[in-house]
Amino acid sequence: MEENKRIYLSLAHMGGQEQEFIKEAFDANWVVPLGPNVDAFEQALENYLGNNKESLHAVALSSGTAAIHLALIQLGVTYGDEVICQSFTFSASANPIVYQGAKPVFVDSEWDTWNMSPDLLRKAILDRKAEAGKYPKAIIVVHLYGMPAKMDEISAIAQDFNIPIVEDAAEALGSVYKYKKCGVFGCFGILSFNGNKIITTSGGGALICHHAEDADTAKFYATQSRENRPYYHHKKIGYNYRMSNICAGIGRGQMMVLESHIQRRREIHQLYTDLLKDIKGISVQQNPTEDFESNFWLSCILVDEKQTNCSNNDIRIYLESKNIESRLLWKPMHLQPVFQQYPFYESGVSESLFHQGLCLPSGSALSDEDIYSVVHEIKTIVKQ
Ligand SMILES: *Cc1c(COP(=O)(O)O)cnc(C)c1O
Repeated sequence: MEENKRIYLSLAHMGGQEQEFIKEAFDANWVVPLGPNVDAFEQALENYLGNNKESLHAVALSSGTAAIHLALIQLGVTYGDEVICQSFTFSASANPIVYQGAKPVFVDSEWDTWNMSPDLLRKAILDRKAEAGKYPKAIIVVHLYGMPAKMDEISAIAQDFNIPIVEDAAEALGSVYKYKKCGVFGCFGILSFNGNKIITTSGGGALICHHAEDADTAKFYATQSRENRPYYHHKKIGYNYRMSNICAGIGRGQMMVLESHIQRRREIHQLYTDLLKDIKGISVQQNPTEDFESNFWLSCILVDEKQTNCSNNDIRIYLESKNIESRLLWKPMHLQPVFQQYPFYESGVSESLFHQGLCLPSGSALSDEDIYSVVHEIKTIVKQ
């Protein structure tokens, strides 16, 4: 390894074709939102997620956050409603609830997948009905770090109460649950193509719909709710949420290397699993059963401080001193000052994960030597 070369958590990793598609857009002077790259990128996402069988409709947007916002708008979430959201996630999962003037209700995780606990979900729904007098309007479930949530159980509960699911698959493009790709289980699925996700468009997202009308409605809202008239006419509040034809060009190129990038992330995860298995007090997150096939967007470890004599944050600081970037797990939403006043249904799992967990460098451009270096440094600090 070169001296002082920084090892990053997860960097953009271009495949090579991206610039061709951008050049096409420039040559045709198609440097605007919408255009041939947007159409082709959406088509590629639909084919990929539906395994070329299921009929899906992808709408390319400016961000994953915008996709969640549009999903909630289309589900009619409005002032005074409650929306259930997994607490263990990035704030972007929950912010759009508040954009709509609705109230987030946070639900804790279970240990197998680190995602929403089905038992607590049921409890929360029943409790909200008793307390608020009505059922929550939607459920936002997240496949955090690429690990699929327990969708069978969660979908069954949602169905019992007739509550639609918004599936936040921002980190889970290419993850599989029971032979189906994440993003297709909910009423709406959302993806993110931000800079450090599995693939990137520099910034962007997509809304996955099951009906053509839903996709048309999303496109309508995302282009300022402009009515089909010769002049600009508006009956609804609109948003400027569409993806640009330039960004979509990057996305088209990235779709060509998606499978190989996922494979590389999984290899890196396996390498960490093998190399760290003998260190007492360190465990690498694993698929709980063969029904779950994480893309392992990030390889995460849990640190049992009693056995390692150092905390997750001690390891992070030490790795940083060796020019290696790692990151603590997401701080749960119920612990965030901005969300403190909202109801929370607790198992203690997400808080415990936050205090023990660490994300290790996992980008698809990392070499085996990079991973050996990270493991070597972890072994050094844990022995100290
Ligand atoms: C990245 C991310 C989002 C938001 O996506 P953006 O494209 O950054 O707006 C939402 N949820 C989760 C879990 C994410 O990791």
